[in-house]
Amino acid sequence: MEPLHILKERKAQIHRKGDAPFALECNKDSLAGAVSQRACVFCGSRVVLYPIADAVHLVHGPIGCAVYTWDIRGALSSGPELHRLSFSTDLQEMDVIFGGEPKLYKALIELIDRHQPKAAFVYSTCIVGLIGDDLQAVCKRVEKEKGIPVLPVMSEGFKGNKRAGYKAACNAMEKLVGTGDTSGISKHSINILGDFNLAGEIWLIRDYYQRIGIEVVANITGDGRIDDIKRSHGASLNVVQCSGATMDLANMMEERFNIPNIRVSYFGVEDMAESLYEVARYFDDAEMMEKARILVRDELETLLPELQQYKAALTGKRAAIYVGGAFKAFSLVKAFRLLGMDVVMVGSQTGTAEDYEELQEITDEGTIIIDDANPLELSAFIREKDVDIFVGGVKERPIAYKLGVAFCDHNHERKELLAGFSGMLNFAKEVYSSVMSPVWQFVPRRAEEEIS
Ligand code: SF4
Repeated sequence: MEPLHILKERKAQIHRKGDAPFALECNKDSLAGAVSQRACVFCGSRVVLYPIADAVHLVHGPIGCAVYTWDIRGALSSGPELHRLSFSTDLQEMDVIFGGEPKLYKALIELIDRHQPKAAFVYSTCIVGLIGDDLQAVCKRVEKEKGIPVLPVMSEGFKGNKRAGYKAACNAMEKLVGTGDTSGISKHSINILGDFNLAGEIWLIRDYYQRIGIEVVANITGDGRIDDIKRSHGASLNVVQCSGATMDLANMMEERFNIPNIRVSYFGVEDMAESLYEVARYFDDAEMMEKARILVRDELETLLPELQQYKAALTGKRAAIYVGGAFKAFSLVKAFRLLGMDVVMVGSQTGTAEDYEELQEITDEGTIIIDDANPLELSAFIREKDVDIFVGGVKERPIAYKLGVAFCDHNHERKELLAGFSGMLNFAKEVYSSVMSPVWQFVPRRAEEEIS
């Protein structure tokens, strides 16, 4: 059964496992007018860069672009909190007509004098791309005058999809990497890429790595620091979480500095354990591997008995997943399985062909796999599959609540960590309390069932 309102141009981006040989179009621009759940290029850049806590982040554009602030997407810092302040050049009509460069120059000088940041990131937005301000020239001039890196982020909102924003962010960071002193870095050292420390998860992950004898050189970018990124080329390995956001930087570091990378996920028990084992395997160090095994065993001894009570209540419930990067979706499918639940729909904003291939391998027959969805499609599939809980981000929350379905935020607005072993317990508790809440008996969806 296919919902009637799927636009014909969208059909190739939706697959129902088992109906036909697997084929899914992805990684292309969103269909105009389809109201994609994706954010723009600029937002992609902000997601990656703004957790760097000791830099100024200046949005060159109209004030509306700058609304995407720390308040919407928290990223915790163990030190400076300059990233929590939002700055914009607030371009007006006159700037659009005569150019915004003078305003940008003035704003940068004032911000650097006032806040003494370690670096400044300057984000280009749609209007700046249209009027043709020379962002790079202004940044270069200020960098020379102030003696700190002033990095243009070429993230004009219209120039592609969110992945282009990730790339623009990585290009900006590339200019920092290789400029710091690497003396004293251990040979068992890594950079953590792709975690943004929304709820403190990078502290937990760092602790796991340190417990097995690994030095973490740079967090890229959760709880990030400019000086750490500058010396991150001294690490032996890049450990990249998720598939999208920081992969371009990891590839560049492999090319320029010969630092290999591995892809991991910290969500769910299996993937968390595998992340530690994989790093230990890379260093080919028996003692490190033994420490990793002990860590996993100790954590599981506490966690698994606690999960049982939630599993008993949740077995057979149905979940739908729609997240930014597909790598997180893999882990969520496994995490739901551990809780005895069935994943009936799974999709992402930025998955690649290989990501979706893997997703269809790990999902059950009948599961809907969807790329770059819109609210109408998501609503239709949630209804059709009679979903008990929907996992997504800030833009998916209203879809779930309007349909009377439980929701778990696995993105921007989360305040409790879901990564690692303790994160799995938090996840189980949250899913349990949301799915089993008595409130759902009063929502129209369930009330209609009662009547019929
Ligand atoms: S950059 Fe463009 S698409 Fe992005 S928020 Fe600004 S105006 Fe909107």
